[in-house]
Amino acid sequence: MRAPRIAVIGAGPAGLGAAHVLVRGGAEVTVFEGADEVGGLARSHVLWGHTVEFGAHLLLRVDPRIDALWDELIGDAYVSVPRSTRILTGGRWLRYPYEPLDIVRTVGLAETARCAAGALRRGPDGPDLEHWVTARFGRPALELFVADYVRKLLGAEPSEIDAGFAATLLGFARQPSLAATARRVMRRAPEPPVVRPDGGVGELPRRMAADVVARGGTLRLGTRPQALAHRDGAVCGVRVDGQDERFDHVVSTTSLAVLAGGLLPAPDDIVARARALRLRGVVLVYLRVHGGVPFADQWVYVTDPSRPVGRIANYDAWRPPHAPAAPETVLAVELGGADDDPLWQAPDSELAARAETELRDLELLGGGTVTGWHVLRLPRVQPVPLVGSGVATDAVRAWVEQIPGLTSTGRFGAFANTGVHESILLGMDAADAVLAAV
Ligand SMILES: Cc1cc2nc3c(=O)[nH]c(=O)nc-3n(C[C@H](O)[C@H](O)[C@H](O)COP(=O)(O)OP(=O)(O)OC[C@H]3O[C@@H](n4cnc5c(N)ncnc54)[C@H](O)[C@@H]3O)c2cc1C
Repeated sequence: MRAPRIAVIGAGPAGLGAAHVLVRGGAEVTVFEGADEVGGLARSHVLWGHTVEFGAHLLLRVDPRIDALWDELIGDAYVSVPRSTRILTGGRWLRYPYEPLDIVRTVGLAETARCAAGALRRGPDGPDLEHWVTARFGRPALELFVADYVRKLLGAEPSEIDAGFAATLLGFARQPSLAATARRVMRRAPEPPVVRPDGGVGELPRRMAADVVARGGTLRLGTRPQALAHRDGAVCGVRVDGQDERFDHVVSTTSLAVLAGGLLPAPDDIVARARALRLRGVVLVYLRVHGGVPFADQWVYVTDPSRPVGRIANYDAWRPPHAPAAPETVLAVELGGADDDPLWQAPDSELAARAETELRDLELLGGGTVTGWHVLRLPRVQPVPLVGSGVATDAVRAWVEQIPGLTSTGRFGAFANTGVHESILLGMDAADAVLAAV
């Protein structure tokens, strides 16, 4: 029997997770990647001699399948450092994920008592994040810990956001389970350490891609299929440069909006639902900072809605424990969000000046001097889980699932704020299902 021929669209973590499983399962795999390099949003690049990512890209090793992948492809070539991430909210610095004792220490007994009293007067549950939080923790906790965070991150009110986002927000999505997270909090066990390959986060997808190729897979960079070939309602290949190339199955990690009505004809209501799924962009300003380590966290997050700055990553915080501070570091400052935010149109020099001023105001530059800047605009990278988007996503995914020969997965196929490891796992799970079916 011949090996099944599978096309994978996208060489980000999800596409490579799928390809990793498919080549090992004996499939003949071709990965089509529109960009000139692999890694998608998890790729690394070098600025002023420092390896950086799109923002912080914190990775935790909390899944056995990821552990096996990591051991095989990365081995010991990584640093592991204690997690240190903080949020500036209401003028106070809190550890994140939130820790009960830290909250009491930082916000004080009176405010804690107000939150506790609020938790006793919980509101009714509902489909949105505001109801979800107030039903479990009360309104003061919503205002203190959640509301500004969500406004800044997603550009929407908690009442507009789907309740399902709570798991991601509260850190549960990155833990093995809610129960495990609760046990960790009860034991006051430390957060698992965060890990980063020596060549940056992008080293993981790079090595995954090299392994796929070493096992006989094909990687076609700079190649974006124009359409999916289909016959009698089933997908049977991809169209590249006007030619149909036959495959037994296509695994797509492109967005549902590109897939439904773009790569493949779809009913009008499905196209409308896929296009209505909101994605938000990020403007990243990298600042080269000389002298003085501004802060020791991998990232800090500023929730104050009057400030355009959001998350700030510090790449020097990946220094192995006990290594001396580097004379220079790079900070990645996330600015703005919505693609119609005037900041998106501002000249790079203005964005860089704005980022520097914000950091000085917040006393996050310490004694450091900014000696260089670089601006990147990443449009449509963050799914905004508005209320009702779950129903819309389910409808589009149900349409995809009934098409023989096609699987959609990954951050943009699932329309979820997945992390790198979760995206890899989505790809792996999709590949398992494909191998079982072909
Ligand atoms: C600012 C920011 C910060 C983040 N921080 C973290 C973090 O701290 N920790 C963490 O774990 N995760 C983080 N993430 C999320 C992480 O980057 C994603 O979960 C992960 O990269 C998603 O993998 P993916 O393969 O599903 O999608 P992507 O990474 O987007 O990869 C999809 C790939 O498919 C290609 N592609 C798309 N359409 C086509 C097409 N039609 N034809 C050919 N190729 C196509 C794209 O070019 C891309 O290479 C962050 C993301 C952002 C934007």
